[in-house]
Amino acid sequence: MTYAENLEVIGGFSNTSKIPCLSIGMPTKYCITGSRASKTPGSICEGCYGKKGNYKFPAAERAAERRHERLKHGMNGGRSRYVDAFSWLLNYELEHNTKHQDTKYFRWFDIGDIQGQDHMDIIMDIVKRTPGVKHWIPTKEVRMVMNWVLNHTVPKNAVVRISNLKIDQSMDIVRRMAKIPGLAAAGVYTETPQRYAHACSAKVCADCRICWSEKAVTYKRK
Ligand code: SF4
Repeated sequence: MTYAENLEVIGGFSNTSKIPCLSIGMPTKYCITGSRASKTPGSICEGCYGKKGNYKFPAAERAAERRHERLKHGMNGGRSRYVDAFSWLLNYELEHNTKHQDTKYFRWFDIGDIQGQDHMDIIMDIVKRTPGVKHWIPTKEVRMVMNWVLNHTVPKNAVVRISNLKIDQSMDIVRRMAKIPGLAAAGVYTETPQRYAHACSAKVCADCRICWSEKAVTYKRK
């Protein structure tokens, strides 16, 4: 299959200016935990950046919807085709770098989140099929992840970054949960960063790749 055909199968990648690599996002309306959390004042999801700015442009919304449609296909009988196409594209970009980005890295969910255990399995299949690429998988689906790691090991080339739900929430519990190999903790702060976490207020990642490590990170609420 050609590059364009594989891209068609997954519905394309996102275009995210902050990060140095390819990424993929899904519409925020399908976030499972995030949709519930967004109704709670003081939650990280309440002022979700995925519902504002460039993400609200019709073209961006259509693209995210298309990616979600293709994922649904992947989760309903089209799994091997979806995983093949996704892995093929990441491996192709690792070798040829047609997008002129740091293709040794990949970010999941610049917006959106994991859609269930099947989706988690699909993501990890793609991770295993792309050993030269390091994957950052940020998520609020902490219970889903903890269930998954009961029976699986996170591949060495991935970090699943489980997040607090509230702004300025202590990161002690999420850091404890993230002691499992392959997991990392995330929080959000307004004024004072949480203890023992790298504080990020960067507008662009530039040379920083901390989010692909197991170090705890807390992000400044903009
Ligand atoms: S900690 Fe580094 S890699 Fe993570 S978002 Fe901030 S600048 Fe980017």
